[in-house]
Amino acid sequence: MMAMATSMMANAQTMGIKLENMDPTAKPGTDFYQYACGGWMKNNPLAPEYARFGSFNTVAEENNKRIREIIEGLAAQPQPKGSLGQKIGDLYALRMDSVRQNKEGVTPVLTDLKRVAKVKNTSELVALINQMNTEGTSFGELWGSYIGADMMSSMENLLEIYQGGYSIERDYYVKDDEANKKIFEAYKQHIVKMFQLVGEKPADAQQKMENVVALETRMAKAGRDNVALRDPASNYHKMSFAEFTNEYSGFDWKTYFDTQGITDIDSLSVGQPEALKEALAVLADTPVEVLKDFLQWQILDGAGGILGDEVYEEVFDFEGRIMTGAQEPKPRWKRSVNAVNGVLGEAVGQLYVEKYFPAANKARMEQLVKNLQIALGQRIDAQEWMSPATKQAAHEKLDAFYVKIGYPDKWRDYSKMDIDPARSLYENMKEVLKWAHADMLARKWKKPVDRNEWHMTPQTVNAYYNPTTNEICFPAGILQYPFFDMEADDAFNYGAIGVVIGHEMSHGFDDQGRQFDKDGNFRDWWADGDGDKYKERAQVIKDFFSAIKVLPDLNANGDLCCGENLGDHGGLKFAYAAFKNATKDNPLPVKEGFTPEQRFFLAYAGVWAQNITEAEIRRLTTMDPHSLGEWRVNGALPLVDAWYDAFGITEKDPMFVPKEKRVKIW
Ligand SMILES: [Zn+2]
Repeated sequence: MMAMATSMMANAQTMGIKLENMDPTAKPGTDFYQYACGGWMKNNPLAPEYARFGSFNTVAEENNKRIREIIEGLAAQPQPKGSLGQKIGDLYALRMDSVRQNKEGVTPVLTDLKRVAKVKNTSELVALINQMNTEGTSFGELWGSYIGADMMSSMENLLEIYQGGYSIERDYYVKDDEANKKIFEAYKQHIVKMFQLVGEKPADAQQKMENVVALETRMAKAGRDNVALRDPASNYHKMSFAEFTNEYSGFDWKTYFDTQGITDIDSLSVGQPEALKEALAVLADTPVEVLKDFLQWQILDGAGGILGDEVYEEVFDFEGRIMTGAQEPKPRWKRSVNAVNGVLGEAVGQLYVEKYFPAANKARMEQLVKNLQIALGQRIDAQEWMSPATKQAAHEKLDAFYVKIGYPDKWRDYSKMDIDPARSLYENMKEVLKWAHADMLARKWKKPVDRNEWHMTPQTVNAYYNPTTNEICFPAGILQYPFFDMEADDAFNYGAIGVVIGHEMSHGFDDQGRQFDKDGNFRDWWADGDGDKYKERAQVIKDFFSAIKVLPDLNANGDLCCGENLGDHGGLKFAYAAFKNATKDNPLPVKEGFTPEQRFFLAYAGVWAQNITEAEIRRLTTMDPHSLGEWRVNGALPLVDAWYDAFGITEKDPMFVPKEKRVKIW
C-alpha cells in the first residue's frame, strides 16, 4: 500500500546511477568501492584547494554558487540599515575586501593582545578574561561551557562545563608516533611565526611558544580522548551550584558566570571533573607570564583567519597544507560565503529554500521517511535476541521520532545583530559573538528546551539525529543528487537518501542513542539482559573496523566510529527492507544490465565516492567518528547479507566475511 505513490511511475524514471562513475575493470567482491566509484575518482582528481573531495562535495559546491548569487544580489543593491539583506551584504563585503584587510593587517587584534600584556597578576588576568567574555572576543579558555538540554531531564536546559585548554586535537599532544610528532613540531613553529607576525622578536616568540605548548600539553593530558568522550554517563556530573563552588574552589565562579549573564545558577554539570580540577591547579600554580602567553595565543589563534593575507597564509600553511594536505586556500569568495553561512545561516537559508526547495521534494521525502519508519519497525519485530518488552519500548521510541525536513517552521531572529562596515572585520566578528551569546541566553537560559530549534542550517548538505529530542533532521541541502533524485527510481533513492534516513534513525538505537528513551531522557529502557546482548553485538562491529588498515601503518578506530558504523549498518538494513516493501507489488526492471538490488548498493556507494590526501586520512582517523568514505562502503557492505545476494559474492571473493562474523543487530 505505502509503496504505490513512489513506485507507480517506475518505468518512466531513470536509474540515477551514472555508468561513467564506475570502474568496470574492478570486481565487486574484490574492491566494491573501486568497482562502484572508480570512474568518479579518476574523473575528479583532487583540486589543490581540497584535502578531500567527494561526490557529496559537488552538491556543496553547487550550493555555494547558489548562495553566492543570493548574497551578491543583496550586496549589489543598497539595503535598508538593519535589514537582513544589509547584514548579509555588508558582512560578505567586509570578508571580501582584501585591500582593507591587508591595510589593517594585525592592527585590530593588537589592542587586545596589549591589554593582556599589561596584566600584572593572575587575579587581574581573570578579571580581563571576564571583561573580554562580555566583549565577544574569541578565545579558548582552560575549560568551555555551554547551555543545552539536560540529558537526565530532556525538556530542561542545563549549564555544562567541558574540558579545554588546548588548541589542536588532543592526540597530537599525547601520542608520539612519527606522523603525530611531525604535526606537533609544525604546530610549534606555527605558534612562533604567528607571534612574530604580531611583532614579537624571534627569541620572545620562541619563549611564548614554549610556555603555550607546556601549558596546553598539561591540559591535554588531563583531558579525555575522543572515545572516552562518547560515553554519556561518565561525562555528566550534575550538582548544585553550592556543591560546585565547594568542590571546585579557588575561583570566583559567581563573578565569572554573572558577567556572562548566566545568573542565579541552581545546578550545573561538570563533564570531565579531572580536567576542571587540573585547570584550577594550572591557574593556581602557573606563573602569570605563562598564563598571559596562553591567553594571547588563544586570541591570536581565534582571529588568525581575518587579519589579512600574510597571517592567513601562515594559518593555511599549518591548518591546511600541513594538517590536511590541501595545497591552496579556497578562493576568497568561498571563504566569505562560509563566513556568512556561519554567522547568518538561517537568514541565508530562508532565501535559499524559497528559491531552491520545491514542495514536491518535501512530499516525497516525507513518504520515504514514513516507509523507512515502517521498515525499521519490521526489523525490530524480526529480531530474536530482543525480548518483547524491549521491542515494545523500541517501537515507542521509533513512533516518537520527531521528523524535520527542509527548513524550520520558525526562523532565527537576527534583529539584534549589528553588522557595521564602519568597524573592522575583527570588531564586527566580536559583535557577532556577543550577539550569539546573548541570543543563546535569551533562548535557553532558564527556558525549557525548544524542540523546534534546528542544529543545522537548511542549506547544509548533511543530516543529524539528536538524542535529547529524539529528532531526525534532513536539511533542504541534502535533498539533491547524489543523495536524492526526483527523476530516479526507488532503487536509487532508497540506496542513497534512504540509507541516509535509515542512518539517522539508526542513531536512535546505536551504542549511544539506545541509552536515551523516547522522550530524550538518558534512561535504561532495555529489558534485563538485552543491553548486554546489544553490547556483545556492537563489539563485533568495533573489532571488525579496528582491524581495517586505512594506511599501511594506521588502523581505523572501531571504538571511535562505533556509533557511525552502526548508523550505516542499520541504515543499509532499514533502507533495503523499505526498498523491498516499496517495490514488492511492482518490481523494478533490470536497467543497463543491473538488477534493482544491485542499483540499490551502487547508489549507496556512489554517495561516498571521494579522493583524499594521506594527511587527511591520518587527521580524520584521529578525530572523526565517521569512517572514511572507502570504508563506509568496503567496511559496511560485507556485513550486510543482501549485498552478497545482489552481486553473487562467495567465500572465494576477498571481501567475503563469514556469516557468523557479520554484526547481528538488525
Ligand atoms: Zn551519523
